[in-house]
Amino acid sequence: MTPPTPLRARWFDGASSQARTVLVVLEPAPGGPQLALHAPGQPPRRFAHGAVEWPEEWNPRRPPPRLVVDLGDGGSLEIDEPAAWQAMLSAAGHRPGLAQRMQTRWPVFAAVLVLAAAGLFLFYRHGTPWLATQLTRHVPLAWETALSQQVLHQMDDGTLKPSKLAPERQAELRARFDALAAQAGAGRYAGYAPRYALQFRSGLGANAFALPGGTVVVTDALVEAARAHRLGDDAIAGVLAHEIGHVAHRHTTRMVVEQGVLNIGLGLALGDVSGLLSTGGSLLTGLAYRRNHEREADCHALALMRAAGLPTAPMADLLLAIAQDGAARRKGQDGPAQAPQEEDGLWSLLSSHPDTAARARELRAGHAPHCS
Ligand SMILES: [Zn+2]
Repeated sequence: MTPPTPLRARWFDGASSQARTVLVVLEPAPGGPQLALHAPGQPPRRFAHGAVEWPEEWNPRRPPPRLVVDLGDGGSLEIDEPAAWQAMLSAAGHRPGLAQRMQTRWPVFAAVLVLAAAGLFLFYRHGTPWLATQLTRHVPLAWETALSQQVLHQMDDGTLKPSKLAPERQAELRARFDALAAQAGAGRYAGYAPRYALQFRSGLGANAFALPGGTVVVTDALVEAARAHRLGDDAIAGVLAHEIGHVAHRHTTRMVVEQGVLNIGLGLALGDVSGLLSTGGSLLTGLAYRRNHEREADCHALALMRAAGLPTAPMADLLLAIAQDGAARRKGQDGPAQAPQEEDGLWSLLSSHPDTAARARELRAGHAPHCS
């Protein structure tokens, strides 16, 4: 390797106002190119990479007429041959920064864009659920029950109506629920001890849903559907076991936390933090369980029912019957038409399971390949 040709420069040493003509050599060094300054009649002075204020990179098609290089205590240099400087700098091992490469090479720019988009997508898809799962460990049960009370009050003022089920019938089903809840076991969160309680409501189609902290709501229409299809209480017990699974795995809390993480991320990205404060009970209405949450709840129900010595086929039949009733109602063949979202809305038993038939097959078989 031939030694680089020294470059002429004017040196202002900071002590004298007169510039001196010196020779500059840029040399490779472990921490990046260093600068050697040769002044006549003096030993060479070397400036490490970090001691030099390297000039901003420029567009090669429009080089500046002159470079000024700040050497800190060593004064400053003026160089009249920017191209020669740049060539020597590259030869000494200088790598252009990312911003420089993006300015000059659009494929690099495109690659950076694609990587950024992929990174955002991966964070949204996997990062936020993972983060929410971790953060949920620190969410107190009292926060969950307070949120649930608030949401249930809101729903009672809206779509939900008091149950018309006879108190004895409610007591029967509550006893089944309590027996299952006593065996509920831990979900993903060791030491998490929700207070399970069953509530009855009407005003919605055949449905059941779980609120964070342990409250499970079942509709009169679901109890009626089991009766109309002669499916018995084991079918309802299966649905209740599924909802207990949602509670044990804290699915709703995880989604609320995840929404909060996304809001904070968006707030930081957009520089708007005021929107963060608007989170609360209203948040829940926009949520639907993820498909993997439904599968996890089904697995929990299968294990719980097996441990209790109960069959899961009646639950499968009930889900199929509800799906068929809903489809028939939407076609207007069976009774008064209802708005579809009444059955398919919030926390529906079926909404995030497009393939109810496959799910019913798994429940009838008593096991599913995705359950551990
Ligand atoms: Zn569910």
